[in-house]
Amino acid sequence: MGEIEQLQQRIAVLERTLAEMKTHTALVEREAALQMSRAVELNARLSAILSICAALLISRGVETIVQLVVREAVHLFPGTSAAHLFLIDADQSTLVLRASNNPAVILTRPGEGLSGKAFLSPRAMLLVGPQVESALEDMSEEQIAALSASMEHWPPYSALLAPLRVEGQRFGSLVIYGGVNAHLYHPRDLPFIQALADLCAVAIDELNQRTRAAELERDLTLTQTLHAEAEARLNTAQAQLLQSAKLAAVGELSASVAHEINNPLYAARNSLYLVEQDLPEEAPERTFLAIAQQELGRIARIITRMRDFYRPAKAELAATNANSLLRETLELVQTHLRHSRINAAADLSNEIPLIIAHADQLRQVFLNIILNACDAMPDGGDLRVKTRLLQARSESPTTIAIDICDTGVGIPPEHRPHLFEPFYTTKANGTGLGLAISAHIVTQHGGRILVESERNQGTTFSILLPTTNE
Ligand code: ADP
Ligand code: MG
Repeated sequence: MGEIEQLQQRIAVLERTLAEMKTHTALVEREAALQMSRAVELNARLSAILSICAALLISRGVETIVQLVVREAVHLFPGTSAAHLFLIDADQSTLVLRASNNPAVILTRPGEGLSGKAFLSPRAMLLVGPQVESALEDMSEEQIAALSASMEHWPPYSALLAPLRVEGQRFGSLVIYGGVNAHLYHPRDLPFIQALADLCAVAIDELNQRTRAAELERDLTLTQTLHAEAEARLNTAQAQLLQSAKLAAVGELSASVAHEINNPLYAARNSLYLVEQDLPEEAPERTFLAIAQQELGRIARIITRMRDFYRPAKAELAATNANSLLRETLELVQTHLRHSRINAAADLSNEIPLIIAHADQLRQVFLNIILNACDAMPDGGDLRVKTRLLQARSESPTTIAIDICDTGVGIPPEHRPHLFEPFYTTKANGTGLGLAISAHIVTQHGGRILVESERNQGTTFSILLPTTNE
């Protein structure tokens, strides 16, 4: 072989090697490009997932969350023709399409169709070609019609599905369809669709827990309010009981005192009578005897009044006109008012119905409260008496209110709890019985007395009385 031939052979070998190396380099380059594009894709997906995390963290409603997840699913898997998010209903029987990239109404059941299979599946799945078709088989024609209307290509060649679940609790499923491209999705997409579904489930779970916590808190507040109300009622009842007991004691005491005084009183009156009989007509002692008899008579009347005051009333209940009683009471104190320079005004409503009551007792109540009002205005002032019909609530009987307002000194807050206690008085000559007896009478009538007062502005006593006695 000549030298030239040898050289030619070596050149041919070198050329082949070069060609092989070129092919190899091209392969390596392609591989590198592929790796690069995967890295870019991975990066894009990770940052998408991160931004979804951030958005879900601040989402306040289920609607916002599901819409966001569907939007991001389409974004995260380019080429997707439809994305559906189903949530299970309260009784865990129906999956309802709650968000979709095209408007549609689809209902399935757990296990039925792709959404139903995803719901029951422990993890994300990739279905391709015949797998998709067989998963669609158990759906009704109606469901298929709704489903196919919501996407451009039917039947879809591939689908990614994932359950929405948190710690064994299932909320729904996420399904995305790949249209005509059978190789659109890849098994390496599975962790991403599952991550999206998990984020969605966690966000919904969080929201549910928050709602439940708020409900529990509301329940707790309600229970606390009810408890406080019950306690307040109990306290009032106890206070009333105590007051009645004190009044009863006062009543008993005065009845027995009256009884004790009556006997010696009658003896004294009789003795005086006998002395009088024996005196000559013009005896000057007669004047003194008359005075003594008169005063003893007064004591006898006071005793009777005292006894009757506390004795349970024998008076019959009768239909009573509160306005008339008030007019009579005002007439009774007319002179007293004039002397005290108090202007009285009455604003009596014609709308109030008759009430079933002991007229005498109520008159006593009105008198007590009006006289207190006068005492509160030592330098004169305005007394206003008003009647009104209270807005009837369905569960309570119709009630009338009698307001007695003065422009007097007012009641300091620290005195208020004691007003209705027997013997509680701030007056030098007070008995402290007026309000105690009034409250007793009003309670016996099924009503109550309210007080509003402002220092140096005045006081309003409101007597509330039901118009029917149950
Ligand atoms: P009394 O009139 O004998 O003092 P009450 O039971 O009638 O007894 O009243 C109790 C106390 O309530 C009074 O001493 C007074 O301090 C207060 N009070 C009642 N009504 C009024 C009023 N209209 N304005 C200011 N204080 C009042
Ligand atoms: Mg009084």
